[in-house]
Amino acid sequence: MPTIIDGKSQAKDIKIGLHREVGPLKENGVIPGLAVILVGDDSASQVYVKAKGKACEEVGISSFQHRLDEDVTEDEVLKLISELNNDEKVHGILVQLPLPPHLNERTLTEAINPDKDVDGFHPYNIGRLVLGEPYFQPCTPLGIMRLLESTGIELSGKEAVVVGRSNIVGKPVALMLLHRNATVTICHSKTREIQDKVGRADIVIAAVGRARMIQGEWIKKGAIVIDVGINRKADGKLVGDVDFEGASKKASYITPVPGGVGPMTIAMLLYNTVLAAKRRQSGLKAS
Ligand code: NDP
Repeated sequence: MPTIIDGKSQAKDIKIGLHREVGPLKENGVIPGLAVILVGDDSASQVYVKAKGKACEEVGISSFQHRLDEDVTEDEVLKLISELNNDEKVHGILVQLPLPPHLNERTLTEAINPDKDVDGFHPYNIGRLVLGEPYFQPCTPLGIMRLLESTGIELSGKEAVVVGRSNIVGKPVALMLLHRNATVTICHSKTREIQDKVGRADIVIAAVGRARMIQGEWIKKGAIVIDVGINRKADGKLVGDVDFEGASKKASYITPVPGGVGPMTIAMLLYNTVLAAKRRQSGLKAS
């Protein structure tokens, strides 16, 4: 049986550590603050935003939630971002995705000051990641790397296969693995013979959004399997992109869904927000 990588418990430990860091910041008059902009009433987004607010509370971060109507104009959102960029109480800003079609994700992301870009999606932060000189790193990939590190297994020289090439998960995690000297293959919807590529991997990262697409028999014996997927079945149950039962027969380490990558994503958002507050306090700025 594989070792289950317990993201929930690791996220809890990270939050305890952050709570300890927030104490001295507060004593110096700095209360880390996270502003979240939610447009419309997408039910999944509302759940995520609520979870982020609760997590902020747990570690002592101030959470400022801005709920905007579905038909808000881009100019109005840009005006709010500009106000938050100039608000001393706010150290991190995030725009909850997905956005309604009339709002341009790129325009809004680029409007966020890179020093407050705790989601790590601003082109400045993406560029720094590409250069191997990260400033703010995107939360889900950062959480995945923490989970991999927790296994204690050396990543250098390993064959890693990332299934999915989104800007928020697949591409950045592939870069992070590359910077740790893994040999990385990125698969996507046009990739042929994915099964063979996954079958060669010492490390599999599944970030597709298709329930149980990665089958157990594809997995190489002893591989580490990180399942990023969150897919809700008709009965309301969450399942990942990996056939957990089948993959568990082959993997040495595997993340569950739920309780794997998800909690780490929120923990890394808090980590980035505290980092933003510490940077402001020490006068460090994006250059
Ligand atoms: P996207 O939809 O943005 O990207 C999905 C990727 O999967 C694309 O690159 C797409 O390829 C690829 N893909 C789709 N179908 C196939 C296929 N049949 N074979 C191979 N590749 C395929 O998703 P995200 O990256 O945003 O999210 C991926 C999953 O992770 C989702 O389930 C999402 O809910 C979950 N997620 C979980 C988070 C967490 O905290 N646990 C955080 C973020 C996401 P192409 O580019 O060619 O279209």
